[in-house]
Amino acid sequence: MQSLSPTKIDAKKAERILVVEWNDGHASAFPFGLLRAGCPCVECRGGHDKMRSDPEPSVFNQELPESSATNLADLSLVGSYGLNIQWNDGHHHGIYQWDYLRKLCPCEQCRFEKQK
Ligand SMILES: [Zn+2]
Ligand SMILES: [Zn+2]
Repeated sequence: MQSLSPTKIDAKKAERILVVEWNDGHASAFPFGLLRAGCPCVECRGGHDKMRSDPEPSVFNQELPESSATNLADLSLVGSYGLNIQWNDGHHHGIYQWDYLRKLCPCEQCRFEKQK
């Protein structure tokens, strides 16, 4: 099977969502607050030993208010394996690898599959 990667990434700043279309046909809509809550950088995850794990389940219940921390400033691809997101508060350490990003997908289908 082809490895998971996005075919399209579109940051809708007015709606505060990041739309990602995947090469398996799935589409994800990530609220900016969720992306920030799930920032995979060492600082946000609290240590290198946690870097390989999946997103913390709690990030899906966190409602981060609109602030400079949840305003997306810029996006850039990191090689072919991930996405770097820069936030308006200057935070820019998170590299969302495709597998991780997909696990952050908040849609019902993905949330349901994760619970199994
Ligand atoms: Zn971070
Ligand atoms: Zn999904």
